[in-house]
Amino acid sequence: MSLDPIKLRQDFPILSEKIYGKPLVYFDNAATTQTPTQVTDVMVEYYNKYNSNIHRGVHYLSNKSTEGAENARIKVQKFINAAHSHEVIFTAGTTESVNLVANSFGECYISEGDEVIVSEMEHHSNIVPWQMLCQRKKASLKVLPFNDNGELMIEKLDELITDRTKILAVNHISNSLGTINPIKEIIDFAHSKNVPVLIDAAQSIQHKKIDVQALDADFLAFSGHKLYGPTGVGVLYGKEKFLNEMPPWQGGGEMIQEVTFEKTTYNELPFKFEAGTPNYIDIIGLGAAIDYVEAIGLDAIDAYEQELLAYATEKFNAIPNLKIYGTAKNKTSVISFLVEGIHFYDMGMLLDQMGIAVRTGTHCTEPVMQHFGIEGTVRASFAFYNTKEEIDALLAGIEKVCKMFGVKHA
Ligand code: PMP
Repeated sequence: MSLDPIKLRQDFPILSEKIYGKPLVYFDNAATTQTPTQVTDVMVEYYNKYNSNIHRGVHYLSNKSTEGAENARIKVQKFINAAHSHEVIFTAGTTESVNLVANSFGECYISEGDEVIVSEMEHHSNIVPWQMLCQRKKASLKVLPFNDNGELMIEKLDELITDRTKILAVNHISNSLGTINPIKEIIDFAHSKNVPVLIDAAQSIQHKKIDVQALDADFLAFSGHKLYGPTGVGVLYGKEKFLNEMPPWQGGGEMIQEVTFEKTTYNELPFKFEAGTPNYIDIIGLGAAIDYVEAIGLDAIDAYEQELLAYATEKFNAIPNLKIYGTAKNKTSVISFLVEGIHFYDMGMLLDQMGIAVRTGTHCTEPVMQHFGIEGTVRASFAFYNTKEEIDALLAGIEKVCKMFGVKHA
């Protein structure tokens, strides 16, 4: 299976933009992926022809929008192979999905003296909601460390998990290191100790085929904007047995069955967790993004991105004063690096002047930076529409910056 990046690039008008008169090289895909016209066209069509609030109407437009949004739910269900479509909750993104679980699962199952485990390589959005919960409940937050290659030390799980451990929250792929974590192994081990697991799939949903039933994941969170879809929409998958027991997180319209001033009863799944007007046009856009990605094929995407990663890693390793952070055996197409003597902001800003978009800083993973004793990195992250020629442009850009700073380059 292979793909044609040059042909696929035509679906993304932004990739033909010029930045300061230079062709855009977009290497910030781990922050957000670009959106093809196949997705934006569907959204514009809904705004122009069918826009109406969903679920409550009896009229044509409302039915049409409702159908679009509920079809998107089924697309997500099939995409991650959930057993039921009502196990798919639409949220604003990964962050909101994790907050939902931390609040609602936390309310239901966590009390004083209990423990929550996260890993040292989590995005802040899979740390802070748990920390807030632990503070509220007088529970404790424990941390699964990683080694200097950026690989989780999963052998430590045995000593970390106790009979007070109520949940383990871990990412599938690290956004700042690119490490692909052995989540099946982690889930199996946690389950052998009766600990449910939340998987942050923000960085994996766009690279790897995910099957929540095969993984036996209890919760899984991701964002639409990292899957070539719109911003402001995401998914929380949860096993029915947990979602049924968990209380609603936010109150409002749609999540209720009956309201009186004395008592409110709640709607069934998934609506119990979707208070207020859903972000239905973006939800429909997310469905279109799933269609788009499936038409290319995640296996083809993954294979091509691995090719880009191998190409870039070899070239980066040949630069004498450059260090890559995140050298796990199993990695996705992310290269986090620093050049000795050049601040990451300087590198990022000078590359920007050449039309090359990379991310600089902590990437919302301050504990990862603390592990390495650094303040940040430059991160180049590749998607299927990137090319080896663009990687060459980045390498030439780095060489130029090295020369400006008088840093030996080759
Ligand atoms: N987890 C990981 C691993 C991420 O990379 C991100 C986004 N950078 C998030 C969570 C948060 O996603 P969002 O901002 O879309 O809610």
